[in-house]
Formats: sequence, C-alpha cells, structure tokens
Amino acid sequence: MPDGAAAPVMTAERVKALAADLGADLVGIASAETLNAFPPDPRWPQTPDRVSPHVKSVVAIVQHIPVAAFRAKTNIAVQYIDMLVLRRMDRIAFRIAEALEDAGHPSFVTAAQETDWNLKRASYGRLSTRHLGIEAGLGTFGLEVNILTPEYGPRVYLTGILTEAELEPDEILTEQVCIGESCSRCLYSCPSDAVRHFGIDKRGCATEAQEFGYAQITGFFDRYIGLDRDRKRDFNRSRGVFGFWQGLLRVVGSFGDCPRCLAVCPVGNDYHAYLADVQKFIPEKTPQKVEKAKAFKQARKEGAEIDGLNDWNERWVGPEGYQGMVARQVQAFKQAQREREAELASESNSRVNEEIL
Ligand code: SF4
Ligand code: SF4
Repeated sequence: MPDGAAAPVMTAERVKALAADLGADLVGIASAETLNAFPPDPRWPQTPDRVSPHVKSVVAIVQHIPVAAFRAKTNIAVQYIDMLVLRRMDRIAFRIAEALEDAGHPSFVTAAQETDWNLKRASYGRLSTRHLGIEAGLGTFGLEVNILTPEYGPRVYLTGILTEAELEPDEILTEQVCIGESCSRCLYSCPSDAVRHFGIDKRGCATEAQEFGYAQITGFFDRYIGLDRDRKRDFNRSRGVFGFWQGLLRVVGSFGDCPRCLAVCPVGNDYHAYLADVQKFIPEKTPQKVEKAKAFKQARKEGAEIDGLNDWNERWVGPEGYQGMVARQVQAFKQAQREREAELASESNSRVNEEIL
C-alpha cells in the first residue's frame, strides 16, 4: 500500500537520479499537456489522454543496444540482445513507477512494443515512444524517423512511465541531430528501400524488420491451409516454420529484425568508437538510392513541400536544421582519445622509470 506521507516528494531531479541509479542510460520528462497538444498524427491521436485522463507527466527512459551486436557477422546478435534490452528497460521503468506511486502519485508503464489496431493499419502503439523521447528532450528524428539521441544515435529503445505527478518537463531539442540528406546512409543501407524523406514506408520496412511478425505469420497460415499432405510436410521443415517457433520461444523475429539503418548511422560516440571502421562501407548502396538521396537534397534546398518536414512534423525533426552536431561530436571524441592516449603513455613512462630506478 503506498504511503505518500512517509515517502520523499518526487521532483523531476529525484526521478532522474533514481532512473540513473537503476541503470537507465538516458531519462527525460515531457508534460502530458504538451503530448496531448502535439499528437504525432492528429487524425489518429496517440496521446496520454486517450490512455488515462489523469496523467500529468510522462517520464521517458532510454536503454542503448550494446554496440558489439552491430559488429557481428549476422543480424542475429542484435535480434536477441534487443529482447534483453527491452526486458531490462521494462524492469527499470516498473521500479520508477513503483517509487512514484509510493510517493502518492499513481503511475504505470507503457508497453514499449505494442500495436493498437484502432489506429492505422500498421504497427502504431497507443503512444509513440519515439515522440515521447523527442518531447522529453532526448533526441530528434532521423531521415528514417527513428529517434536519434546525440549519445547513441538510433541504437536505442525507449519506454514511458505515465504518472499523475506534476514534474518539471525538459525542453525539446530545436537543433536537428540527424545530418540529413547529405548523409543518407540509412537510406543507402535499407534492404527494402523503405526510407522516405523524414518518413518511412512501414509495410516495406516490416518485410525485413518483422520477418516473422503478425502479417507474415497470418500469411503463413493462409498458405498452409491450402496445401496437400506432402507439401504440408515440406512446409513444416521450412525456415518459415522454424522462424515462427523461434519467435514464440524468444520473441525473436516479430520486430526489430533488421538493424541496418541503426548500424550505419554516424551519430553517437558508440559509432565513432566501435562502428566507424566496420560499418563504413554499405554493401546495399546502389546508384538508384544515390539518385533518391540527391533528389531529397534538392527538394529541401528548393523549399519544396515535403510531408515529413511539414509545419506539424518539423517540431520533431528540429526546426533549426542541422548545425554540425556530429562534426562537433567527432572532434570532441578525437580530442578525448588523444588525451587518453597521452595519459596512458605517461603512465607507461612512469612505470618504466620506476623499474629503471
Ligand atoms: S529497419 Fe531495416 S528495413 Fe526498416 S527502415 Fe531500417 S534498414 Fe530499412
Ligand atoms: S544515417 Fe545519416 S541521414 Fe540517416 S538518420 Fe543517421 S544521420 Fe540521419
């Protein structure tokens, strides 16, 4: 039973300190009022108000995906670690919700991965966690409309704690984190060519990212029902059936199956430290994709009407445009590397001197 009288008052600072202690990589706060006023798509409002009219604030937390998975030879490492990251993130979020509730503020955690079929006919949840993160000041949209955090680029998962506590919200970033059209590495890497101009063809993406997701599984049953006995036996030995089984067993394959646009994005120190070498070359890049990126660049230069950059969406892309954040990041990273190398060299010299003396 919550004991509001005995528990400390939960301020934004306390919530953030608790999240950091519990192991959240990043944390930010958005006010429910702002989230209700700026739904991602006003025709299909993914707002706290639709979930509970009592929610006052949403605490957004971020867990990064360990970078080693993006250095592996196949996508399987990312697919499995994704599930572990989500479980850890859910546990941290639950503990924050409990602490808020103990302090007298009813609170609960959103499902980080869910689909509400009353919304559009694709994977749209009751809330959009990427919009939560942006409204909580943690990043801005990339060209492929993943949230890009300055710290880890798009290699993150997010969830939200919906609380009745009035917490001081964070400021939304106005500088575009994504390098934009002149980079277009996510576009080049996409195996289903699903990246649009600050937009995504969700169905195209799902063919790779949800290889054994809902649409694929129902299609599988449709095909299976019409087969004769011999062909059913062959079907049962196919990769599709095994993928379905793995999905049931480990939730692998139903989402987050394709890591390509995450792996090649040059935002974040994790990229500079561990991915710049192995992900520099993009084998999926084609002359057609290069032309597509050039057309995007030209359209933006000419101020053409671009759906992903319209007055409503610009808020989440970063209205100030790209100001060189990644270049500044690379410089700071290289400087820190040089200082570290100098420190190590000096320690090594001291050891040698001690041995001589
Ligand atoms: S997840 Fe894969 S298929 Fe989807 S947009 Fe990114 S690269 Fe393309
Ligand atoms: S790969 Fe480049 S264009 Fe794509 S999201 Fe990252 S920074 Fe933006």
